[in-house]
Amino acid sequence: MKKLSRRTFGKLSLGVAMSVVVGGTELRLLRPAYAAVATPAIDSTTAWGAAAAKEPINVLNQKPIGIVVHHTTNPNTNDFTRNKAWQVARQIQQSHFNRGWIDTGQQFTISRGGWIMEGRHQSLSILQGGTKHVQGAHVDGHNETHIGIECEGLYMNVTPSLPLWNKLVALIAYICQQYGLTANAIVGHRDLDSTSCPGDTLYSLLPQLRTAVDTTLSGGAVGRMWPILRRNTPATGLAKTMQYLLRARGATITADGAFGPGTETAVKSFQTANGLTSDGVVGAATWEKLIMTLRSGDTGEAVKALQNQLTVQSYPTTIDGSFGTGVNTLVRAFQTNRQLTVDGVVGLNSWNNLAM
Ligand SMILES: [Zn+2]
Repeated sequence: MKKLSRRTFGKLSLGVAMSVVVGGTELRLLRPAYAAVATPAIDSTTAWGAAAAKEPINVLNQKPIGIVVHHTTNPNTNDFTRNKAWQVARQIQQSHFNRGWIDTGQQFTISRGGWIMEGRHQSLSILQGGTKHVQGAHVDGHNETHIGIECEGLYMNVTPSLPLWNKLVALIAYICQQYGLTANAIVGHRDLDSTSCPGDTLYSLLPQLRTAVDTTLSGGAVGRMWPILRRNTPATGLAKTMQYLLRARGATITADGAFGPGTETAVKSFQTANGLTSDGVVGAATWEKLIMTLRSGDTGEAVKALQNQLTVQSYPTTIDGSFGTGVNTLVRAFQTNRQLTVDGVVGLNSWNNLAM
């Protein structure tokens, strides 16, 4: 169990920093000067058709002090629609009723399609008020003090979808703003209880989540999120896609999904050749240099990377290195489902979504 690191700043007025002038130098006091964080769209319990709670909701006259990230362990659906999100919310509520709970356990749920939903009744209005806390049922011993966010999916070995991740950052930044919390308030369920939740991969991303939330709170631009691949990560389809891209850039490695020493060497060479830090770790900067814009008629290893990654994302196709009409149809279907520009051209946005 990890001790919660938190700082108390007292009452906040948003976007206002206290400062004093000492010897002509302006000093900022320990009080976060939050940029106005955009209020994310959140579908209410009414919107997704929640059943009534079995008993009155307990609203505590205190602010929460922590934010717990969970994963639902549902299969990682490729249905990113709002209807699917609402269906998941109703399923969760029913399963929590079946456990004898009065309502959905967590205060908020985010679907793989990036739809944020109110979980337990009243959680949305209480969050908007910014002074009280809806007692949930998501983490033993901390329900009176912590807000729970359930991320739809199972994140033991894979990174959450890009829309889910982006909305997780947005929702937590908003929660921090409403209650005067910092990103240090973010914990994983496993920090507080004996559980694998929120999955090894999502848990490993919590430092990045805190950084992204901090950046959002300070009004900075959060960079694109990409999955991180490094030597000895378990063999995955995504690693194979990355290997095809390296081959497209001239590497002579085998695309087998296993990130071994040969792949690491190839990554380092690619990084050196492209002015990147040569650490052998494939993160955002390396991904954005590795990908190539692809369209109908293209051929080669980069197209194999696309075909492999479409297959990983449940748009299965033969990996023959030829971007024909079949691939074009799949790319457009993917772009439609992800609410991207539907043009059949695989550029930065499409690659970013394909990777997550
Ligand atoms: Zn959990």
